[in-house]
Amino acid sequence: MTATRGRSRTRGRLLTALLTLGPALGAATPAHALLRPSSPSPSTPEGPLASNGPTTPDIVDSTRRGGRAVALTFDDGPDPRATSQLLDVLSEHHVKAVFCLWGDHVRQHPGIVRRIAADGHTLCNHAMSHDDMSTWSAEEVRADLLETNAAIREAVPHARVPYFRAPYGAWGRTPGTAAGLGMQPLGWSLAVEDWEPPGTDELVRRLEEGVAPGSVVLLHDGGGDRGQTVAAVARLIPALKSDGWHFTRPARRG
Ligand SMILES: [Zn+2]
Repeated sequence: MTATRGRSRTRGRLLTALLTLGPALGAATPAHALLRPSSPSPSTPEGPLASNGPTTPDIVDSTRRGGRAVALTFDDGPDPRATSQLLDVLSEHHVKAVFCLWGDHVRQHPGIVRRIAADGHTLCNHAMSHDDMSTWSAEEVRADLLETNAAIREAVPHARVPYFRAPYGAWGRTPGTAAGLGMQPLGWSLAVEDWEPPGTDELVRRLEEGVAPGSVVLLHDGGGDRGQTVAAVARLIPALKSDGWHFTRPARRG
């Protein structure tokens, strides 16, 4: 296909390191404010709707209800080390999260995807090879998203995948296509740059300072050494809980 369809993992890692758009947003700017799809939202879905109701091309970046509610989302896994540790932490505290899965990693570690699903977490399509899809045609996007869901369902037959998140937040034409396949585009409202690990203390500080009612928090359990993220989450959850916060899922519609 086009040059942007390169699938090498090396390239994916380089792009991960760059993480072009996410960091520029900082913690205060909702992702969709800068990353709105370039074309108006299509009104006609491009495929069969999921049985759980219509999705929209709007990029959701908040929880369903306000108050002291927060949603944790983890990108770029599964990773054999970090994801397993993270699942232990979430299970210990009875917290459910969203896992945005990198298709190539799903193929490498299907057993971890099975555990994510068995533990009751929500699955999110994060594309097959973590490409920047911002210039892709709808047809290219659709093929990639379907391939990713097929990889997920090879690991977990009949898995529900109610969300899609574009790698790097480079949405391009992906929101309409994802919505047409029954996946709500999932943005975020708080990123703490855990892809350039600043130390666990600093991560916890950024998270506690940045969290606001209805936050969707972007974190990473794959694509690099995510030990600091796991350690930060292990401290964040009890701290927020004791402060009256509860953990929930992102809204299903924009
Ligand atoms: Zn990612």
